[in-house]
Amino acid sequence: MAQLKIGDITVTALSDGRMSFATTNLFPETPEAVWDGYRERFPEAFDAQGFYTNIGVFHLASGGKQVLVDTGLGPHGAAGGRPGPPELMEDMQANGVSTGEIDSVFLTHLHGDHVGWNLTHDANGSRPTFPNAKYVLQQADWGHFTDEEFLNAGRRDAAQDTYLPLPDMRVLELIDGEANIAPGLDAYPTPGHTPGHQSMLISSGNERALIIGDVIGSPMHVTEPDHLYRPDVNREQAQKSRHDALDLAESHDMVVIGSHMTRPGWGRLIRWEGRRYWQAL
Ligand SMILES: [Zn+2]
Repeated sequence: MAQLKIGDITVTALSDGRMSFATTNLFPETPEAVWDGYRERFPEAFDAQGFYTNIGVFHLASGGKQVLVDTGLGPHGAAGGRPGPPELMEDMQANGVSTGEIDSVFLTHLHGDHVGWNLTHDANGSRPTFPNAKYVLQQADWGHFTDEEFLNAGRRDAAQDTYLPLPDMRVLELIDGEANIAPGLDAYPTPGHTPGHQSMLISSGNERALIIGDVIGSPMHVTEPDHLYRPDVNREQAQKSRHDALDLAESHDMVVIGSHMTRPGWGRLIRWEGRRYWQAL
């Protein structure tokens, strides 16, 4: 069990599996030599294909409330008729987290590797996987990911499987900007990766942490924040959010928790020879 205490708040690292990407798939303009310099420092972030990433999900317990940050990739391969093991569900069980006890599902954004287990589909129809939770999302992401043109570009089925039914199920709570989610847990907008990408500030006593979602996609992103990152919807806005969030975390000595950092996914930012680096905890 991988747990972290931020004051009175308990963070548990969960995972829904791993993904591999060719480096040029994520960073089409970056020469390979840039990444070669990091292979020795972060061997866990590479495999034969290129980048090797965790699909992180985080459970937070604070003041009697339970919050889940993102819901992973979902039934792996389901779209191709070859669903893999329900890793997140098994990991929750192994960590004593029950779907019925989650009060809020905090969605950093609506990319497919963050919403996969939102809904459960079976012979009885579709329903929220977390039956007593409200699903909290920024308005700007809902607008972008429900745009007709966006959906008509081959994305409607995946959207229907994971987030489009949420309003009719009366479990979607749209917020705009900063908002309190539970004691010591606050939404902190970090737009750019997607229009409504949000991070979460964790504060308890004198301790602080930031769940940074996909603002950083790998440990290398901390040191190389300005390369074109293909998954970012808006390059300039994403770069600004990346700089702002990393500056905030560094200046307050926060623990940083990333969706795609190697499990458990938390670390601190350190300075070495004038550059900023990820240091896993
Ligand atoms: Zn992601």
